[in-house]
Amino acid sequence: MGQIRLYIAQPLTVGSEVVLNEQQSHYLTHVMKLKVGDTISCFDNQSGEYGCTLIAVGKKQTTLKVLEHHKPYAQTPDIWLLFAPVKKDNTDFIIQKATELGVRKIIPVQTRYTITERIKRERFEAQAIEAAEQCRRVDLPQIAEIKKFDDILQQWDKTRILYYMDETLTGKPIAQALENAKSCAILVGPEGGFSAEELEKLRGLSFARAVCLGPRILRAETAVVSALSCWQALKGDWQ
Ligand code: SAH
Repeated sequence: MGQIRLYIAQPLTVGSEVVLNEQQSHYLTHVMKLKVGDTISCFDNQSGEYGCTLIAVGKKQTTLKVLEHHKPYAQTPDIWLLFAPVKKDNTDFIIQKATELGVRKIIPVQTRYTITERIKRERFEAQAIEAAEQCRRVDLPQIAEIKKFDDILQQWDKTRILYYMDETLTGKPIAQALENAKSCAILVGPEGGFSAEELEKLRGLSFARAVCLGPRILRAETAVVSALSCWQALKGDWQ
């Protein structure tokens, strides 16, 4: 089966036909120059991955036929990422890398020093889809609406440990902090860091744990990639 992978926003079954949207049609026929009879892989975020072949290529409409099921549906490990949106390109980077690093749920958080209050969820979703297609995930990360820091903490399920990356460097080293981790979440602050009140609040919560990522202050996006990589290596599916 071909190397090209597409997420199809409808349930796939062997034998069914799928009319692609204009953007996907353009990508396959004009960018990748595929022709009738060429094969690609598709996944639907609910039943796994399929081998498909192009059966019609029109000006604005391309049709695929689903030939075989070649990978079952599976979710990535139970790790969530909470992050404070930064500048546009860096936020895109965070969504992309979190998807590649197998995050199951992404929750944008509005903290005191978060620079963006509104987010374009559709843009985040598009970034996540592209990254999932490329990295061969068969599921998509769930992307939540942006939530206020206080609201998130108030509604938190206390059985899920919240590891917050603490730039005051007073938390436990990450390998030690994650020793008994099960289902959990990783929280990274904005470029301006957490406010003193926010850190104070986090310190008082039974389900939150301060984590240190070494002696240097990392950019938010570096902290995201570092923390998730450590989690995957120690507790996730890199083992
Ligand atoms: N402006 C802040 C730094 C913010 S860095 C300052 O100068 O102190 C952005 C985020 O990355 C922080 O909120 C924290 O969550 C994370 N971070 C960066 N470096 C870190 C480190 N060494 N240990 C733990 N968290 C870190």
